[in-house]
Amino acid sequence: MTYFDLHQYAEPMARLIEEFRKLPGIGPKTAQRLAFHILSIPENKAKRLAQAIINAKQKIVYCSVCGNLTDTDPCKICSAANRDRSIICIVEDPRDVFAMEKTREYKGLYHILHGAISPMEGIGPDDIRIKELLERIRKEKIKEIILATNPNIEGEATAMYIARLTKPLGIKVTRIAHGIPVGGDLEYTDEVTLTKALEGRKEI
Ligand SMILES: [Zn+2]
Repeated sequence: MTYFDLHQYAEPMARLIEEFRKLPGIGPKTAQRLAFHILSIPENKAKRLAQAIINAKQKIVYCSVCGNLTDTDPCKICSAANRDRSIICIVEDPRDVFAMEKTREYKGLYHILHGAISPMEGIGPDDIRIKELLERIRKEKIKEIILATNPNIEGEATAMYIARLTKPLGIKVTRIAHGIPVGGDLEYTDEVTLTKALEGRKEI
């Protein structure tokens, strides 16, 4: 029996394997292993896992200001009194905020775009949170925006697009320095490199 023969399994087991297979980075073998593991643990442990998934889905929302994942709205960063409210760091993904926060160097606010402009994938400026960013810049007293999109084609195109829109508004627009490997992801960049990239940011 191969792990592709789902019909060989009792229906509830086949369904569990199918659900695991839909998760990112999970192939058929791992899906099967996880399903067997779930069946081998006590029911209360399985329930705890199921409940954790439901809880997270119900309680975590997107911050209405910055777009970060949060269980309070506005999020902790947006509502913190000790953050510099005149700087916004623009990133593609909530995971990038975790990477930046690990550096402990950055004290400003964030704006999460939830993607990058990618004509190849049919993602245009209106599909990511650029409108919301312009709205924030209009309403709040922003002195600088730091473009911290990923150093790949989509990230660069997005940074340039936002720079073109925001520079005429009279705010300082900077791009984090290279040093982050081209094609690399912000979220996988170590703290030292990220701190240097932030310190070495250049006005564009
Ligand atoms: Zn927020």
